[in-house]
Amino acid sequence: MDIYDLIQSSDLKHLRFGFYKLVYIRPTQFCPASCRHCSARSSPGTQRTAEVERLEKWVTSITDLPEVEWIGVEGGEPFAAPAQLEMILQVAQERGVFTSVLTNAYWAKDERRAREVLKNYPKINFLIISADEFHEEYIPLSRVVAALRAARDYVDRLGVQICAGPEYPTFRERFDCLAGDDLLESVDIIEVPLQYIGRAQESGVIHRPAESDELPEAICNFLGTPVLREDGVFVACCQQDAVLSSQPNLFQLGNLDDCDALALKSRVDADVYLQTLRVFGPKAIAEAAIKHQWGWEPRSYQQGNICELCLHLASDQQVVEGFREAFNTPEYHDTLALGRSILFDEPLMMESMEVDLV
Ligand code: SF4
Repeated sequence: MDIYDLIQSSDLKHLRFGFYKLVYIRPTQFCPASCRHCSARSSPGTQRTAEVERLEKWVTSITDLPEVEWIGVEGGEPFAAPAQLEMILQVAQERGVFTSVLTNAYWAKDERRAREVLKNYPKINFLIISADEFHEEYIPLSRVVAALRAARDYVDRLGVQICAGPEYPTFRERFDCLAGDDLLESVDIIEVPLQYIGRAQESGVIHRPAESDELPEAICNFLGTPVLREDGVFVACCQQDAVLSSQPNLFQLGNLDDCDALALKSRVDADVYLQTLRVFGPKAIAEAAIKHQWGWEPRSYQQGNICELCLHLASDQQVVEGFREAFNTPEYHDTLALGRSILFDEPLMMESMEVDLV
C-alpha cells in the first residue's frame, strides 16, 4: 500500500485533508544522519532547535485551535531533542490531542535500550519509523526492529515509512526477514515515493523529472496541515521549499512569538488566494494571471508538479495581490465555501445566496 492508498482508505484521510485537524511540529532540524534523499536536508551539522520555553507557548497555542486532533512531530530527528519532545507530548496529552512521532530509530541500540528511552516519554499514539535503503547507510536495520519490538508495549499504533528507492525490493526482503511475521502483523507499512526534493536534488539519487509546457493541474491537499518550524514560524503548507525557505514567503504566516495560532489559521481560512489553491489548484490562479495580464509568464514545470507552479506564482507579488483583489467578492467566497464543503467535508458557510461556479 502506498501513502496515497493508505490515506484514502484509512482513518487518516480526514486528518490529512481536513483543515487544521493535523498540525506538524518540528522541534529540531538536527539529525544524527544525513540521508541522501532527505527532503528536510537535516544533518548533524544542522543545530537549529527550538528553545523549550518558547516551544511550550507555541504548542499550547496550537492545541488551543478548536479543530486540532493530532500533532505530528517530525524534524530533523525528534528524539535528538528529548526535552522538546517530552514537552510537546505532555502538552498534547493534557489537552486531549493525539500525537504521532516520525523517527529514524537511531536511539534503539537494542530492545532493552529502546524500552528505556520510550518509557521516559508521555504516551505516543502513533510511532512511525523511517527506514529504507538511504537511512540504512546510517542506521542499522537491527535498530529499527529493536525500536518496533519495544514500542509495541508503549504506543497505540506503529508504522514504518519506507521510501521506495531503486533498491526497494531487496530492502523489503531484508527488512521483512529481520522483522518476522509476528512483528510485521502489528506494523503499518507506509510506502512513500522517492521525490526530487531537498538533498535528493544534489545527491543524484533521482533525476529531475521531465518538464512540460503544460500547466500542471491538480488541487492542493496540503494547505490544511500547517507546519511549525523550530524558530516559531508557522507555515501554511508542508511543501519543503516553502517550509525551509529563509526568505519570507506567502506560506510563512507569521511567528507564534508574535501572534497566536488561531489568528493565523483565521487568516488562511479567509484568504481567497490560499483557499483557491485548495479548491481549484494553482493552475486556476495561473490562468487568471494570464487573462488579467498581471505581468506573469508561465515557464516549463516538472510534469505533474503543482508545487513548482504554485511557488512560481506565489513569488510574484502582482499575481498574489491582483488575485486577492479581483476575486474578493461574496460570490467567489461562496464558491470556495461550496468547494471546501464538497472536497473536504467542511461546514458550508455561505456569504451570499447566489453561487457562481467557475
Ligand atoms: S506549494 Fe502550493 S501546491 Fe504545493 S503544497 Fe504548498 S500550497 Fe500546495
